[in-house]
Amino acid sequence: MIVAMRSDASQADVDVVVQRITEHGLKAISLPGGERVAIGIASTIPPEVRAPLTELLEVMPGVDHVAQVSRAYKLASREFHPVDSVVEIKGITIGAPTFTVAAGPCAIESRDQLMRAAEAVKKAGAKALRGGAFKPRTSPYAFQGLGPKGLRYLKEAGEAAGLITVTEIMDQHDAEMIAEHADILQIGARNMQNYALLNAVGLLDVPVLLKRGPGATIDEWLLAAEYILCQGNRRVILCERGVHPLDRTYTRYTLDVSAIPVVKSISHLPILVDPSHAAGNRAYVPALCLAAAAAGADGLLVEVHPDPASALCDGPQSLSLGTFETLMQDIRAFCRKKRL
Ligand code: PEP
Ligand code: MN
Repeated sequence: MIVAMRSDASQADVDVVVQRITEHGLKAISLPGGERVAIGIASTIPPEVRAPLTELLEVMPGVDHVAQVSRAYKLASREFHPVDSVVEIKGITIGAPTFTVAAGPCAIESRDQLMRAAEAVKKAGAKALRGGAFKPRTSPYAFQGLGPKGLRYLKEAGEAAGLITVTEIMDQHDAEMIAEHADILQIGARNMQNYALLNAVGLLDVPVLLKRGPGATIDEWLLAAEYILCQGNRRVILCERGVHPLDRTYTRYTLDVSAIPVVKSISHLPILVDPSHAAGNRAYVPALCLAAAAAGADGLLVEVHPDPASALCDGPQSLSLGTFETLMQDIRAFCRKKRL
């Protein structure tokens, strides 16, 4: 439920509305946007309370109207937060009007590999360095990442190149350690509905990049974001990375380009696109990057490796440093109206 106040409502009017809501055992949230104050109720309103509370609030001094929020997610919805959210990290912004590119290897393999990647992606115009230290692998025998040592390399490489950093968290108990070494915590596609993990990162004051599970609907994805938001962490960035494909012959997943304008219309959260995992093949990555920019994404998360042929994880979909540089020139030309 949203209580929209009139533009001439006084602070005392607002305070009394908040008090009435609180008296009903509900949490009132002040909502940003426009010249008028609005107050939202994100918690579930018992059916027997909804009608009488609406009637009560509608006639209170300073109240313009009371609107019911139709969607299951509240804090993630544009109804609750009409203006686009912008996540700011060390002076780098993710969300309109910038187009922010994060790039780097799938997995951190060595100090040298990461330093080379960081220097090259920075030079090409990326603002963030990606690299996994804890890797979710299908096989327990596959390279699982360097763990804490990888995190130390990430911090060092990010600082040396002047890039913010993003890395995946798989275990809620690692949250503090990872947050000490990286600027953005990535929740991977496999963990999109790991509610213990979502709740844990929701309690932190660290930006979270929430990937869409390949089998998740857009509503399920936004409800996963709601878990983080309702714990108090409002710095959530969405990431579309491909959904289960009709045809696996040519691509690993199918990039759901239509999810970009849909999410933009129903949510205020910034959205990045990961074309690498969607394509699974570096040949298709540049086209998907441009498609994402054209569809209104706020940026990209791209896998780049100094020597893709020797990569320990996701080599076939990783761009070489040279290809990434060319791609960034193409994106820059394409996004002339935006700041890259
Ligand atoms: C990754 O970014 O390296 C990764 C594992 O991605 P996803 O969770 O989208 O599969
Ligand atoms: Mn990967």
